[in-house]
Amino acid sequence: MGAFQIFPSIPICQTDLPLDWYQEEFRPYAEEYLALPDRLPETVFGWLDGYVRPACEHFGDALLLVAHYYMGGEIVKLVERYGGAVGDSYQLALKARDNPRKRVIVESAVHFMAEAIALLARDDQQVWITNPKAGCTMEMLAKDYMVLPVADQLIERYGEDLLVVAYMNTSGRIKQLAGRTGGAVCTSSNAGLVLRWALDQGRKVLFVPDEHLGRNAAHLLGIAPDRLALLGDPREGHHRIGETPGGLEELDHADILLWRSFCGVHTIFTPEMVRWHRQQGREVLVHPESRLEVAAVADGVGSTSYLWHRVMDAPPGSRFAIGTEGHFVRNACEQGAARAVEVVHLAEVPGFRQGGCGCATMSRNDPPHLAAMLDLLRRGDAPDINRVLPGDDVDELTMRRDRLSPAEREELTRDARIAMERMIQIAEAGAG
Ligand code: SF4
Repeated sequence: MGAFQIFPSIPICQTDLPLDWYQEEFRPYAEEYLALPDRLPETVFGWLDGYVRPACEHFGDALLLVAHYYMGGEIVKLVERYGGAVGDSYQLALKARDNPRKRVIVESAVHFMAEAIALLARDDQQVWITNPKAGCTMEMLAKDYMVLPVADQLIERYGEDLLVVAYMNTSGRIKQLAGRTGGAVCTSSNAGLVLRWALDQGRKVLFVPDEHLGRNAAHLLGIAPDRLALLGDPREGHHRIGETPGGLEELDHADILLWRSFCGVHTIFTPEMVRWHRQQGREVLVHPESRLEVAAVADGVGSTSYLWHRVMDAPPGSRFAIGTEGHFVRNACEQGAARAVEVVHLAEVPGFRQGGCGCATMSRNDPPHLAAMLDLLRRGDAPDINRVLPGDDVDELTMRRDRLSPAEREELTRDARIAMERMIQIAEAGAG
């Protein structure tokens, strides 16, 4: 991945978090950061160097910093400045597995992504997250205590006909369910391939958690809408299958049962926004977590990696409106501008006020979190709450963690890995 160019005149603009949002051990670093005179890169990088460079020297080649594309451009630039890797959730999940020499992996993104890295890590590799409160709102509507009771009822009704496909945006506990039922994990880049693989076995699929990704992938596979059934709303406490208007008949008829969760960042887009940007001469690209009525009229639909490469590979003079997370679009806008490629956020239309929404939970990782995590690791004082092990469940509000026993963790890792490795096989076969 090419290094990001640092734009000296662009300020570090990630919103500062209040001091009491930092865990106790991190507050001294946050106080120093908040006291800096400005957020210009030279100021912030100068401060960070004092913590990050000694950690890099201490751990040497064993250290790997990783960040998701949706992190504020500041963290993306910081991670790349210090030799780390930026990627989408599929690319990040493979980081420990594909880099056995990296023993200390520090992640700036959301918890399920760090856990996915840990699921594929070896015993001598540690995964740390700079802020354990960085959850994913889509995943929060598909916690194990919500999904497992429903899955039990479905298994009771359909037996071995039922298979679970777990989007990467799930906890390890849900990925374990996918493995246990002979299913697979998927990401937005391979959801269609994984669904095709599942349906080719003649089995009914429970797709968890994003109803929009499931519907978009099914649409692209040519599956009729009446072969999909939406399960009850987890926010309304639906725990009995068949309580939706279509009842059990609808579930029996369907090939794909969609869990009802969504990403608030990706569901703000409308077909009118697509049409408006197209009238302005822009090509419209959207992420498949968008609603089907938006994806169906866009010029291109694809994963974060697809969106990034469409911009990076575009000839000068190209113009895009992109429907995805706001920090990503801002990063793509900066990189595109350097090559005369215009990128705007799809929600930037007259009269719409929420344009440019970023992933608020992922943004809970900021420069002081990265500085503190690395400095405390170097000193041997890193708080255990920041360590990520398979099966960990962290409450995003209270930071209370439920950690499995070693035996439970071993079992979860085995089952979830089967589902992850199955996805990798399907994706690699599809790419080849
Ligand atoms: S952008 Fe949406 S789906 Fe992605 S991590 Fe944030 S809340 Fe979750």
